[in-house]
Amino acid sequence: MTGLRPGTLIRARVDPAAYNEAVSILNADLHCHSTVSDGTLDPETLAARARANGVELWALTDHDELAGQARARQAALAAGMAYLTGTEISVTFAGETVHIVGLGFDEAHPAIVEGLARTRGGRELRARDMAAELLKVGIPGAYEGALKYVGNPDLISRTHFARFLVEAGVCGDTSEVFRKYLADGKPGFVPHRWAQLGDAVRWITEAGGAAVIAHPGRYRFTPTEEFALFSEFKAHGGQGVEVVTGSHNAADFVKYAEMAGEFGLAASRGSDFHSPAESRIDLGGLPWLPGALTPVWELLDHRITRPG
Ligand code: AMP
Ligand code: MN
Ligand code: MN
Ligand code: MN
Repeated sequence: MTGLRPGTLIRARVDPAAYNEAVSILNADLHCHSTVSDGTLDPETLAARARANGVELWALTDHDELAGQARARQAALAAGMAYLTGTEISVTFAGETVHIVGLGFDEAHPAIVEGLARTRGGRELRARDMAAELLKVGIPGAYEGALKYVGNPDLISRTHFARFLVEAGVCGDTSEVFRKYLADGKPGFVPHRWAQLGDAVRWITEAGGAAVIAHPGRYRFTPTEEFALFSEFKAHGGQGVEVVTGSHNAADFVKYAEMAGEFGLAASRGSDFHSPAESRIDLGGLPWLPGALTPVWELLDHRITRPG
């Protein structure tokens, strides 16, 4: 048990030096997106922004894609930041989409390169189906509209549709688009079968990295399903969980710090930054990781590329 109180995190943010023993004060941001998936900034611009915000250890984690890794690492090192390879893999578990972040793997390893290529494969057809569903509710041209926002043709995402629907005046912002059109059960949602949990964890670990459950507070699981996710993930060789993420509130920080302790998982910290206009939390702008937990970057020390 971690014995954490919510106040620890809040005070630590004000004066980290005074709470050196209570928090891990490395400014690590191990979750964000570039134009290679559904972010709006390119890898170089993200690296500069992370550095300006005080990030010391960074990972770019584009959805199901590694095409930004070399650029991100090079920009990170040039800016004086340490770097871990990253990706965020789409998985279907108990009928729900779950995201698994991979960190510190060898980006040329065939297990992850081929696994991600297969995972990306269904996106094009799904996008055309989404446009057909949106047409039925009176929204034409969504496929072409979404494409205008796509930086990587292999990675058309719901986020790109959301940006087009805002442009078209259908909704005021992208959150509203998800709520009304793109969430499970809404008119533009097309069910999709992503990778299996065990496969995603295996691709990452075979390539020398650590698998991390992304933003567990976002899934609409019953306690039984959530327990199954954590125990199966652990049984497959998963090593970490995001405790401090842009998708969690203070209660989630405490809950998933406890879960990390309970399941013997290391803890990760990542903003999930996508865009200055859309993201609530900026790169490097999160509270610190509770010091009672093992930070995932300690497990990956030998996989970190350092500047100089
Ligand atoms: P996809 O992989 O195409 O299903 O798109 C998933 C992406 O949509 C996530 O990675 C988020 O960036 C974005 N997203 C999901 N739900 C929401 C939401 N409620 N509000 C805003 N963005 C969301
Ligand atoms: Mn995204
Ligand atoms: Mn995610
Ligand atoms: Mn993400």
